[in-house]
Amino acid sequence: MTFRAAIVGRPNVGKSTLFNRLAGRKLALVDDTPGVTRDRRLHDAKLYDIHFEVIDTAGFEESGPETLAGRMRTQTEIALREADLIFFVIDARAGVLPDDRAFADVVRRSNKPVVLIANKSESRAADAGYLEAWELGLGDPVPISAEHGQGMPDLREAVVEAL
Ligand code: GDP
Ligand code: MG
Repeated sequence: MTFRAAIVGRPNVGKSTLFNRLAGRKLALVDDTPGVTRDRRLHDAKLYDIHFEVIDTAGFEESGPETLAGRMRTQTEIALREADLIFFVIDARAGVLPDDRAFADVVRRSNKPVVLIANKSESRAADAGYLEAWELGLGDPVPISAEHGQGMPDLREAVVEAL
């Protein structure tokens, strides 16, 4: 099975942390330099027996002259176009914010298969956000902790079902 997955979502939800985990890279590489526009990053990824390519949409989140909508049109839409599968990530501790809904609309319009990921779910503080995530209408949220490596078997299952 070969496919390409794009990790999409508003800033700070843990996209790069998930990217590094799937790509088998060191967590120390997560930090983005603020204000620096970076290219989309593509890397070989592995989720148990599933091998694929993953795109991190680092860069569009940094502040700059463009509006959020403008940055979404560029980076995220290019990534969505190149992807066979979307990992749409929210921060379950923060709950569903207006920016999450805006990104969800863009993801929905792409008509690509989506796996909705409720990240930062390693504690009970994520419970309410996990429940809110159902409202996005993007299917069953998968609670994970990208930082702690929790929920990866469920994520694998969701990928298999989405493809
Ligand atoms: P991005 O802006 O979406 O790429 O988010 P990052 O991957 O840069 O992560 C933003 C912040 O959330 C960093 O401080 C991460 O360490 C933190 N983070 C990422 N994943 C998790 C997680 O599963 N649990 C918690 N508690 N923090 C996380
Ligand atoms: Mg990032």
